[in-house]
Amino acid sequence: MMMKNKSVILLSGGLDSLVCMGVAKENYNISLALTFDYGQKSAKQEIDASKKICDYYEVEHKVIKLDWLKDICNNALTSSDKDLPEGIDNPVESAKAVWVPNRNGLFLNIAAAYCEAENFTHVIIGANSEEAKTFPDNSLDFISSVNEMFKHSTMTHPVVAVPLINLDKNAIVKLALERSVPLDLVYSCYNGSGKHCGKCESCTRLKNALINNGDTKYMEILFKK
Ligand SMILES: [Zn+2]
Repeated sequence: MMMKNKSVILLSGGLDSLVCMGVAKENYNISLALTFDYGQKSAKQEIDASKKICDYYEVEHKVIKLDWLKDICNNALTSSDKDLPEGIDNPVESAKAVWVPNRNGLFLNIAAAYCEAENFTHVIIGANSEEAKTFPDNSLDFISSVNEMFKHSTMTHPVVAVPLINLDKNAIVKLALERSVPLDLVYSCYNGSGKHCGKCESCTRLKNALINNGDTKYMEILFKK
């Protein structure tokens, strides 16, 4: 049997990237996961969660440190003197507060370099319709533009695959429950306190989606005090 071409996934350990791994591992033959440490408050938890996810799915894991990005970041995601916005009532303001300069653009380019070096065919990213509303680097326009760029910036033309692009958080959790993705491995919180704070934008979106799907099991595991 011919070996399928291999792919790399961007893995933060959050809901979207975990579900992407769960649903795309086989189809895209994901064999490498990249987790980025750019000084975000939750870097340690994201790395730990990503390691567990990679152990579970038997995928090689690399942590990419971007100290220079940490140095130029001055937002609520990275700076201890700035409080993270709570809830999802002001998503536009909240997105501005946690915006990291060219984050997904950088991450996809780094992953594309791995693709070119290792002859991988795809970069998998958990871009989704809910975050595309406030984060332009989650939109299909952005992904299409990146794919166009890779036709010129690489010799091998890797393709960005977005299995969740048409799904909101409710649909992503629904898919995860249907496909038995182990949501207990997720770390979705912007805070680095070790547990899910249950209040930040990311926690609020995950909690709402679990409640809307009638889940009690993962609510208990992830948000119990
Ligand atoms: Zn949180």
